Amino acid sequence: MTDRYAVFGNPLSHTKSPFIHAAFAAQFGEDMTYEAIEAPVDGFEAAVRAFFAAGGKGLNVTVPFKVAAEAMADEALEAANICGASNCLKFENGRIIADNFDGVGLVRDIEVNFGVELKGKRMLFAGAGGATRGALGPFLEAGVAEIWIANRTIDKAEAVAQLLGPRGSIHACGYNAIDRGFDVVLNATSASLLGECPPVPSIAFEGTTLAYEMVYGKGKTPFLRLAEANGADQIADGVGMLVEQAALAFAWWRGKRPDTAPVIEALTIPLQ
Ligand code: NDP
Repeated sequence: MTDRYAVFGNPLSHTKSPFIHAAFAAQFGEDMTYEAIEAPVDGFEAAVRAFFAAGGKGLNVTVPFKVAAEAMADEALEAANICGASNCLKFENGRIIADNFDGVGLVRDIEVNFGVELKGKRMLFAGAGGATRGALGPFLEAGVAEIWIANRTIDKAEAVAQLLGPRGSIHACGYNAIDRGFDVVLNATSASLLGECPPVPSIAFEGTTLAYEMVYGKGKTPFLRLAEANGADQIADGVGMLVEQAALAFAWWRGKRPDTAPVIEALTIPLQ
């Protein structure tokens, strides 16, 4: 019987996940389908349970359901547990298991696809939302020396820093407190969706090896232009993160590790 998978979110009109998983399935000739299901904002849990009751095997979860996905799981694996959010569910022996591959996918994109080793590096995250929360654990595991989280709403950055504080050197600040350069600067805000730029000061890009925009498919965003104008060696958007987290989910569900390179290439919009 054909195995069913899906992505749940709201809205979902621009999701690339069905394309990505169809490409992965084709690499191995897997007998599976992958749908986009726009669950009602107040009906996520019921929709997930109905999907699994109808034989669904696994789900990706995107905005605004990642916290609800972790909360409804019978078991949350470490990455989901640490950040209190899940981007991936699996139905196994009648139980719902939650994991989160966003952070590991991002680390893989930076280290494997862009060749930037993170061990010993100083990182700046602009933004303190779910994407930052999900990424901190994997960055600490990669051996970064120090992480700074800057956010408009400093309280939120402080809360995120406290969550993982005991595991490594994590600090919260406002943008105007940034007074030196970072090896890697990540835009983990949603500002680029509106063509805006978080107020990262120029000095943050002094000595920067990589400036990374988590939003994908928007070309050279104001953040990437700022990074380039201030001398960042490389700039990147989040298409690789998207495909890498999908590959980790696929491997978790199907036990096979897809080749991400052709899928990243197919989805990449040149940064110009
Ligand atoms: P959240 O909504 O949880 O957080 C949004 C963050 O952006 C907050 O820190 C908010 O600051 C900040 N922000 C929003 N607008 C502005 C602005 N104009 N100037 C400065 N800061 C701003 O979002 P997520 O953390 O879940 O996601 C962040 C982005 O990352 C999204 O745009 C998403 O598309 C992208 N993403 C990409 C993935 C990929 O696979 N490539 C995976 C996951 C996310 P404040 O707290 O002050 O409001």
